[in-house]
Amino acid sequence: MNPAIERIREVTRGTEYEGRLFLVGGIVRDRIMGRPPTEDVDIVLEGNALEFARFLHRKGIAEHRPVTYPRFGTAMVTIEGRTIELVSARRESYAPESRKPRVEPASLMDDVMRRDFTINTLLENLHTGEVLDLTGRGRADIEAGIIRTPTEPQTTFYDDPLRMLRAVRFAVRFGFEIEPVTYEAIVRDAERLKIISKERIRDEFAKIMLSDDPDKGLRMLSDTGLLRQFAPELLEMQGVDQTGPHVWDVWNHTLEALNSLPKQADLVLRLAVLFHDTGKPRTKTIDPDGDVHFYGHEDLSAEIARRVLNRLRFPAHEINRVVRLVSMHMRIGEYREEWKDAAVKRLMRDAGADMPDLLALAYADRYGSNPHPSLEGLNDLQERIEDILLKVKVEELESPLGGREIMDLLGLAPGPKVAEVKDFLCDEVIEGRLEPHDTDTARRLVIERFGGR
Ligand code: ATP
Ligand code: MG
Repeated sequence: MNPAIERIREVTRGTEYEGRLFLVGGIVRDRIMGRPPTEDVDIVLEGNALEFARFLHRKGIAEHRPVTYPRFGTAMVTIEGRTIELVSARRESYAPESRKPRVEPASLMDDVMRRDFTINTLLENLHTGEVLDLTGRGRADIEAGIIRTPTEPQTTFYDDPLRMLRAVRFAVRFGFEIEPVTYEAIVRDAERLKIISKERIRDEFAKIMLSDDPDKGLRMLSDTGLLRQFAPELLEMQGVDQTGPHVWDVWNHTLEALNSLPKQADLVLRLAVLFHDTGKPRTKTIDPDGDVHFYGHEDLSAEIARRVLNRLRFPAHEINRVVRLVSMHMRIGEYREEWKDAAVKRLMRDAGADMPDLLALAYADRYGSNPHPSLEGLNDLQERIEDILLKVKVEELESPLGGREIMDLLGLAPGPKVAEVKDFLCDEVIEGRLEPHDTDTARRLVIERFGGR
């Protein structure tokens, strides 16, 4: 049991709070499902959560003064290093022109009815352990694997359209079905997702992408019309046929590629796979002999990735990594066993720390092309990279002289010439004609080659 919950139970025993505190949401649901408990704890009480938070602080178990949100009747405390969300049972009313609810204190029954799905409405009495199923459907829906709103879905989704994305997220995470009336309401109201902030959409989308079945999530997002509201560029891949080793159209290829990723693949890698071919629809050409080409699609894909991820307010460092992986993904496709070591090293230098992800993307790309892809070239490349890494570090595949030193040496002002000299030195290192730290020889080579001009 969570030690924070234990502390709250102890200090409230024999007080007015005993028997009136209820665990709610994920923690109750996950326990009934036999899933590992999540870190975050939500506690609801019929009464004032802000006062309760101050009570916990007075008792000395809350580590800092409570963070309170009086408008919503909620408060946050930290106990035993864990964040606990305290909620006054409430009713919410939404004026049509506002996205912020008006909140009034209310009964537990009102509180569960304003929640998103029946599976999230079970209340577990903190002291007696009794579980209240006030909608009468929470337990049954968990057992049957059903995502259903506690009240008419139109109302639930109208009040907070983000709940439509949450429906997909929970369905994918647990392998549940969205109950048909709830599903139809999503299809009908998908467009209302437009009023939701991009940050909230991003957080749900990221969770769907990080689930065990991102491909299933994307299919649901497409089928419901939700994806169109925030990333319509992805839909353009649908029905775009390709030839060569490919048996699927670009969209299904992408989903198969995602599906083949190892479970521990991080968000950046997953997004790179999602976007790697988004430039194909607009670069497609067909030869007279029927061959299909997508010349330069990796650059357009990278551009589309940047545009969509910017729109969804992903952090710049994540966007940059996704864009780099996408724009480099064809470099690996070009690999041939005839490549000299220097060519492999150049690839390694250009990919830098992203090399493992670039390889993982390439494998996913192969697995997504047909059920029996040829992996020989990739396996060979991977072995050669590993061999090279036994002898040199990627950081050593660099020019021994920096830009400043080159400018001083040749009396140059900043400009493209400096980069040209640096590239020359870097190539000498990669070709094995210059040691990475041999600055004396580097200077001599630079003078010999560029000095007189
Ligand atoms: P997770 O395991 O992902 O944390 P959770 O069910 O605990 O799942 P939270 O986002 O932590 O989800 O929210 C806690 C509870 O608050 C939910 O179970 C749900 O009852 C309620 N809730 C959260 N967000 C909404 C929302 N947008 N609309 C209605 N109820 C919500
Ligand atoms: Mg939670």
